[in-house]
Amino acid sequence: MKELEERIRKEGIVLGGDVLKVDSFLNHQVDTAFLSVLGKEFARRFAGSGVNKILTVEASGIAVAMAAAPYFGSCPVVFAKKGNAANQSADCYGANLHSYTRGIDYSARVSRNYLTKEDTVLILDDFLANGEALNALIDIVRQSGARLAGCGIVIEKAYQPGGARIRGLGVRVESLARIAAMAPGQITFAAE
Ligand code: 5GP
Repeated sequence: MKELEERIRKEGIVLGGDVLKVDSFLNHQVDTAFLSVLGKEFARRFAGSGVNKILTVEASGIAVAMAAAPYFGSCPVVFAKKGNAANQSADCYGANLHSYTRGIDYSARVSRNYLTKEDTVLILDDFLANGEALNALIDIVRQSGARLAGCGIVIEKAYQPGGARIRGLGVRVESLARIAAMAPGQITFAAE
């Protein structure tokens, strides 16, 4: 998506450890009008897939999911809560994962009340790197018996293994911007 690529080029800061900082519109200050444009694009890509619920993980995924929901019939947004990896509870679906940005293991959990086999779920998140967050959310959808329509990502770092890992599970992944390479002061996008 050209507008998103331009925004990343203009405002993105490449940090060490393969982290792209886009705090000016996505991860700290949220440009709500721009995220609404991104949300509409997810709806265009997943049109006709029967999505009745959006699943994400706190915290940065929530803004993306909230921006997209109005274009999916104002469907509910469920966000997985993060907790201690050892803490699982019987009334929740849960999966453990490794945090890319914090370098720690934690659990993502979703109440059984908010995800059921009647649901068709779209998973949304801000970034895709190694696929840990998506893999955990996909696991949670499978535990619930819901149908998975696919995953929508704002920025995929396509040179990292997450995209191949998740697509290799047979899951549809739609990324609005795909970074082929990045270094301080230089970001190259994969061809659309
Ligand atoms: P993964 O689970 O695919 O390894 O990493 C994705 C998660 O880590 C996302 O939920 C996102 O919050 C965080 N993340 C991964 N890479 C980046 C990055 O380059 N910049 C930012 N801001 N977050 C990232």
